Amino acid sequence: MTAINQNYLELQGSYLFSEIAKRRTKFIQENPNAEIISLGIGDVTRGLPQSVLKAMHSAVDELAEPGTFRGYGPEQGYDFLIKAIIENDYKSRGVDIAVNEVFVSDGSKCDVGNIQEIFSTDSIIAVQDPVYPVYVDTNVMAGRSGKYNQDTKRYENIVYLECTAENNFKPSLPDRKVDLIYLCYPNNPTGMTLTKDELKVWVDYARENNCLILFDSAYEAFIQEDDVPHSIYEIEGAREVAIEFRSFSKTAGFTGIRCAYTVVPRDLKGFDVEGNAVIINDLWNRRHTTKFNGVSYVTQRGAEAIYSEEGKQEIASLVEYYMTNAAIIRDGLASIGLEVFGGVNAPYIWLKTPKGMDSWSFFDKLLNEANIVGTPGVGFGQSGQGYFRLTAFGSRENTEKAVDRIRKLSL
Ligand code: PLP
Repeated sequence: MTAINQNYLELQGSYLFSEIAKRRTKFIQENPNAEIISLGIGDVTRGLPQSVLKAMHSAVDELAEPGTFRGYGPEQGYDFLIKAIIENDYKSRGVDIAVNEVFVSDGSKCDVGNIQEIFSTDSIIAVQDPVYPVYVDTNVMAGRSGKYNQDTKRYENIVYLECTAENNFKPSLPDRKVDLIYLCYPNNPTGMTLTKDELKVWVDYARENNCLILFDSAYEAFIQEDDVPHSIYEIEGAREVAIEFRSFSKTAGFTGIRCAYTVVPRDLKGFDVEGNAVIINDLWNRRHTTKFNGVSYVTQRGAEAIYSEEGKQEIASLVEYYMTNAAIIRDGLASIGLEVFGGVNAPYIWLKTPKGMDSWSFFDKLLNEANIVGTPGVGFGQSGQGYFRLTAFGSRENTEKAVDRIRKLSL
């Protein structure tokens, strides 16, 4: 008999996207001529930047020749990419990161999901609510969550940090001892951010309370405002308490190519059962080199090209394109009296559903009456009930059309 990992049975069905697909399919069957616009899932729609394409093409050519062929590369990533990351994403902001503190990977989803492996299964985790579901589910799989409560729709051992309009989507500090705190800024799904001073409160808290912040910064490239930190390491002392995750997915259209990186400062320490300090970077290095065999050479050359002069300009115009969509959605919805959040430093618009509708009723209304698919906020957690997420990743034409259709609804 093969015993399974019992923790997997505590996982709740991935209700959100399967339910969205089910309702969408039913609607299409009943309305075959409807032109549906999807502003639901967070995938990008623009092509890859030319600089990236050129770099990838020439990397492929290099692989054809025995003299320039590359096989297995360093699991942590090639030096050329790591140096470009350090120079452009950190040094330029006055942050010192060493080469052995950066780990290139095939996506932030894997990294934010896998990182928990190197911590005790007794660790108490805190997550924002609403939340990117990967943080929760990977801890459920590892056995940290406790039982799921069908009434509260929450796991009994997870500490939920509520983010609603009442606190301007800025969570309060945990009201009990936690070990690992997942923070996502700019936030998915709310599209909101913290200022430097607000993030400092979390760094100070982590230092005073011996906990670690897992800082997911997948949407960093979309930050527009000056007082929003691009890296948690801009905050003094963060090197002692934070791991940072960054992704090229949304920045450069890498959702299909796959490339991201994680920064694990050497200053970070955990403790073994005897109370001896252990360098967390060594553990992550061991985990990464054991279970991962590196991102392809071609992909890493593509990612490096993002940091060239041509690449930077192309990225800036991609970001501008999506953030213009965000402004069109924000302004359009606000003009008909909807309460909208986010969309200023992030490609997500989080809106309060009108007249106290629940998230799924609003989903149905939008689908049936405007033929638009969005994402019900409650799918990201209980604090998302009564909210709804639209993304700015569509084409300009579809974004404008969608806003026009919403304007014509009676809400
Ligand atoms: N983190 C957040 C908050 C996300 O929204 C996403 C993707 O939607 C990811 C991480 C995953 O990014 P990647 O494509 O690098 O796996």
